Amino acid sequence: MKALYKQLGISEEVFDFGKEIEDSLKDRFDEFDRIAEYNQMKVLLAMQKNRVSEECFGASSGYGYNDYGRDTLEKVYADTFHTESCLVRPQIACGTHALAIALFGNLRPGDELLAPAGKPYDTLEEVIGIRPSKGSLAEYGISYRQVDLLADGTFDYEKIKAAINEKTKLVAIQRSKGYQTRPSFSVKQIGELIAFVKKIKPDVICMVDNCYGEFVDTVEPSDVGADMIVGSLIKNPGGGLAPIGGYIAGTKECVENASYRMTCPGLGMEVGATLGVNRSFYQGFFLAPMVTKGAVKGAVFAANVYEKLGFPVIPNSTEPRQDIIQAVTLGSPEALIAFCKGIQAAAPVDSYVDPEPWDMPGYDSQVIMAAGAFVQGSSIELSADGPMKAPYSVYFQGGLTWEHAKLGILMSLQKLVDANIVTL
Ligand SMILES: *Cc1c(COP(=O)(O)O)cnc(C)c1O
Repeated sequence: MKALYKQLGISEEVFDFGKEIEDSLKDRFDEFDRIAEYNQMKVLLAMQKNRVSEECFGASSGYGYNDYGRDTLEKVYADTFHTESCLVRPQIACGTHALAIALFGNLRPGDELLAPAGKPYDTLEEVIGIRPSKGSLAEYGISYRQVDLLADGTFDYEKIKAAINEKTKLVAIQRSKGYQTRPSFSVKQIGELIAFVKKIKPDVICMVDNCYGEFVDTVEPSDVGADMIVGSLIKNPGGGLAPIGGYIAGTKECVENASYRMTCPGLGMEVGATLGVNRSFYQGFFLAPMVTKGAVKGAVFAANVYEKLGFPVIPNSTEPRQDIIQAVTLGSPEALIAFCKGIQAAAPVDSYVDPEPWDMPGYDSQVIMAAGAFVQGSSIELSADGPMKAPYSVYFQGGLTWEHAKLGILMSLQKLVDANIVTL
């Protein structure tokens, strides 16, 4: 084994350091195995119940009327997430698009959108109109209100109660911290927040941005009262095989409303050809619990490696996991660059290129990104990125297999050792 790792560029000392940490994580990895087993059975049950067959893998074209594979897959998703209905479509370009469809489809002029748990994901700022933008909800007369988290990262129930008014139509909660420093919320916490909101206003729609959260736990936000959960297929539920797509699962009414935005009023879910992606969608969803497990193991391994070396990590080495993202504060530009070079060097695709910081549109500092993915921008695949500004934090996620995630982390460490930033 060591000889093979050596050929990949991992020294004996880095290998041994990693081995010791991996050995110490046995109990936690066993727990991740159990969660994945539960979720694998959940997906299998939904596939069997809906009689998935060879016929489901056909390709439709044109309008896509009567696409049996597409319609059956949407039932499989709905049954897995315990919702009445679901949209799973290649026409949904990404996670932001799925969230925008869900919002635009369910809000009307004069309604108010409430974010009760702090600022939503960056890309939603323009969807909502927090940053003025053409075509935003704000331009359609939909107002927005936000209640920030308390200093300890918990919900500010008093202010949430005060913020709910006769206009409040939809409440948006983001499960994963994304690229913020707050903790990610557990499904249980989200359930408590939804119950609180519904007690004050029972008919309010509760939507959860479920990006990066699917299959990390045995329950999903839809199991604890969410009317809609929304995510991207180039993250967890696509299992690394979906080449594009997003989903919106929820009540029949919410999903139907969203469908009239995804296509148009009158047509809704009835149109939308799948052009041959059905097989990858099914296969990806089938593998998603296992792929997510590998990514979670990688995140926990990284937290333990870097915490042991004295770097601040969020979540820390022992915290329960709610998503697949791991932040490591590296403290210097050299360390951030070295880390990303290691992730890139471990990739199956483009391993020979060196990532460099660049001026990415929309960011106030340079950003460095590492990804050697089969699907462009896929962040269920091993990837890392970080803004080139203090405190030089890297956000690391994914890995289609635990073994690959492990190599990526060992390689990042190797680059830090080679640059004399870390001594083992
Ligand atoms: C990735 C992500 C999104 C947006 O997804 P894109 O596919 O990048 O548009 C939204 N919310 C959260 C929490 C995410 O992690």
